[in-house]
Amino acid sequence: MRRRFFHLQLPIGGDATAPGELWCEDGRWIGVYRVGLGEEPPADLHADEEIDLSGLWVLPGVIDGHVHFDDPGFTDREDFETGTRAAAAGGVTCVVDMPCTSLPPVTSAANLQNKLEIVSPKAHVDFMFWGGVSGNSMAEDAWRDHLAELVEEGVASIKMYMLSGMDTFLDLGVDQIGEALGETARLGIPAGFHAEDRDLVRRLTADLQAQGRNTLIDYAASRPHAAETRAVRNLRRLCGETGARVHVVHVGCGRALDEIAEARSEGLPMSGETCPHFLEFTVEDFAVAGSALKTAPVVKSTKDRDRLWQGLKNGDLEFIATDHAAGVWPDEKHTGSAWTDYGGIPGVELALSYVYSEGVRRGRISLQRMIELMSEAPARFFGIEDRKGRLASGFDADFVVFDAHEVWQVRGAELHNKNPYTPHEGATLTGRVCQTFVRGQQVFERRVSEDPESTPADAVDGAFGPPGFGRFQRRRTTGP
Ligand SMILES: [Zn+2]
Repeated sequence: MRRRFFHLQLPIGGDATAPGELWCEDGRWIGVYRVGLGEEPPADLHADEEIDLSGLWVLPGVIDGHVHFDDPGFTDREDFETGTRAAAAGGVTCVVDMPCTSLPPVTSAANLQNKLEIVSPKAHVDFMFWGGVSGNSMAEDAWRDHLAELVEEGVASIKMYMLSGMDTFLDLGVDQIGEALGETARLGIPAGFHAEDRDLVRRLTADLQAQGRNTLIDYAASRPHAAETRAVRNLRRLCGETGARVHVVHVGCGRALDEIAEARSEGLPMSGETCPHFLEFTVEDFAVAGSALKTAPVVKSTKDRDRLWQGLKNGDLEFIATDHAAGVWPDEKHTGSAWTDYGGIPGVELALSYVYSEGVRRGRISLQRMIELMSEAPARFFGIEDRKGRLASGFDADFVVFDAHEVWQVRGAELHNKNPYTPHEGATLTGRVCQTFVRGQQVFERRVSEDPESTPADAVDGAFGPPGFGRFQRRRTTGP
């Protein structure tokens, strides 16, 4: 295969970048040289093609560890083709899809194979699957065998809900979770939890509904800080009892993060992720964004937001993921009641620009820390750190060509997923994805149309690579 090299600005630690040369062959890096720091490729290294993008930055491809692409089963919301197109446009080179929002859910090896056959021809970027244990799957005698099979098939991690809104993927009681964690500990795979206290949220919801209250603020009141904090406290106890690797998905609450940080300081194998919407918004933003901002858990206060940014900086949080979950727009987001409006936001396309703009540019985290949070740490967590997450010799050539200076305005209608809307509507961001490569293959290039009437979404039509290029990535089994 052709040997190519790219001239780009390479991150070299902290917020610094330096001119670099990246050599790529057969989809992998064969050499990454910080020529601005005096590193030079060997004189006898020759290339078939030289690509000069100097001035633009190269970043490792983002690994989004939490997406709901709904395929098969709920493809009026998203499917693997549209979801991975949006991923490619956002600089995301590997997605980890949740087990609960497809039918059948990924709770057995047979269901995983079924999903793999359906989504593989559609994928623009590489992908992994979360496996799951649900109230439904645990009702079957063979649930332990099914879980072991999923791990054998290379699932990324195991998802469970302490509070679920889905009949097809029911939540688990604390005793059931303890039992399941005994198994995940034995199998040597992390378990990730939707952590909200079921009894508390159900009681508050019933009370508020009985009073005839149905606004988004009422919805937020049904899922208070205590719901997340209590749930995480239970997980902390179970983590201590079982020794299982416990991860909390979409942490939105500062006090819940304090619990995770304390558990970590005691040496417990606990971690958490957060999402751009929790870093940006508070309940006050419902007044403008409306149900486009509805999620579960729900956005909280400025104090929580600040604590989450601090947790990203100081290491209390392990990585950033998007919880990309789009409802049918506009119908499912405008049902007439906040209780029935769909809960979820498409996020995969905006995350990198958002975190760079509001995190790195504003000095909340360094460029180096952003790369750790969006590429290196998720690669480690999902067991693909032997091939992904870094710009280094021997690794997959998954990378983003990034214009760190472009200032642009977010328009929901210009996103590439199936139901394009966003609570970031109208926001001005600095920094934008120009091109995305997966294993050396260009999967996205943003092209600016000459036609003044065209939208940016039109302008990038045809600038995607072929669907089906994305490959299933198996977790590297490291044993218990
Ligand atoms: Zn989710």
